[in-house]
Amino acid sequence: MKEDISVLIALQELDTELSGFDRKIEEQKQELTAREQAIAEKEALAGQCKEKAVELEQSQRDIKAGSEDAAERIKDRQSKMMQVQTSREHQALLKEIEEAKKTIKDAEEQQLQVLEQVEAEEAQAKELENLCTGERKLLAEETGKVEKAIEGLNKQRLAVQEKRDQLAQNVPSSRIKRYNKLLKKREGLAVVQVIDAVCQGCFMTIPPQKYNDIRLGEQIYSCPTCQRTLYYLPEPEEADA
Ligand SMILES: [Zn+2]
Repeated sequence: MKEDISVLIALQELDTELSGFDRKIEEQKQELTAREQAIAEKEALAGQCKEKAVELEQSQRDIKAGSEDAAERIKDRQSKMMQVQTSREHQALLKEIEEAKKTIKDAEEQQLQVLEQVEAEEAQAKELENLCTGERKLLAEETGKVEKAIEGLNKQRLAVQEKRDQLAQNVPSSRIKRYNKLLKKREGLAVVQVIDAVCQGCFMTIPPQKYNDIRLGEQIYSCPTCQRTLYYLPEPEEADA
């Protein structure tokens, strides 16, 4: 008895259509996720800038404390100057005072530099945050649109799914089980055409004897390589001849 492959071909067409819907829905979701991630990355960057600014402010305070210590040291050494006896002690105190003055001068420069860095980090954080606020607003609008689009796609998908389920009821249960298994195992492609003895699922050549059998179509054959169910359609010129 000739087994009817046409129902399997129709089933495959519907399943391909279904996976097309799934892909479209997934793409839409992924686009939103990608945009969300891009915003989150910018927000993290803004956070890093703020942390850096806080660290810099701390080092600013350290520099200031160092400068204040140096000022104290100058006062202390200056008062000691009155008590020293030797020129050697005098020189040593003078040297300390010079060093402390240099520390204060360096600290002033450093503080200016750090202040500039703090301002730059804070400005960058602010700019990123403003950017993110704008992008979040746009993303919220886009999310609404995408959710509507997905809802529409799901409705269309459901109609195809119902058609598919009805059709599947006409296929013997052992055959449908095998079909479903293949569909899962072979990336949504369980039934494929053979063209010029080549399986259109895995693109391997079918042995000549098997190819002849498939062309006769007395029963349903599987690809020896990928196990997909195969069918043959006469080519137009062949049909004419
Ligand atoms: Zn194959």
